[in-house]
Amino acid sequence: MSDCIFCKIAEKSLPSTSLYEDAYVYAFLDIHPINPGHTLVISKIHSATFLETTPEVIAHLFPCVQRIARAVKQGMRAQGVNVTINNDPAAGQVVGHFHVHIIPRFEGDGLSLWTGKAYGEGEIAHVAEKIKLAL
Ligand code: AMP
Ligand code: ZN
Repeated sequence: MSDCIFCKIAEKSLPSTSLYEDAYVYAFLDIHPINPGHTLVISKIHSATFLETTPEVIAHLFPCVQRIARAVKQGMRAQGVNVTINNDPAAGQVVGHFHVHIIPRFEGDGLSLWTGKAYGEGEIAHVAEKIKLAL
């Protein structure tokens, strides 16, 4: 897509700090890292979100994500990694090109991604039914 910054990064018309590349995938460092080593993995084929991308892209991308996540953990001497995907602005997505975040984590680094809520009486079964109906 012509106005997509991650398409431009993938085609090298915008700069980035490259970590890995093949015919379908590009991985580079996030310029505003949650922790140093925070990495983004993208498909070179544009799709807005994970929900809109193709099974073929997913099948190629996720083995790369696993390999890069292992390298991020090892290279940064991290104790853990978050592998996350934000889909749509309500979920925190700012750049509208499907991307996977790999974030190195350290005990006591102070980051808290979310806090759990409680289901009300009978609510969990109702919620499961709504999702299963959509499957
Ligand atoms: P998201 O909120 O999931 O859309 O995340 C987008 C991420 O892209 C953010 O963590 C940004 O810091 C990162 N980002 C935006 N522009 C660039 C860029 N030019 N190079 C590297 N990372 C970027
Ligand atoms: Zn794009």
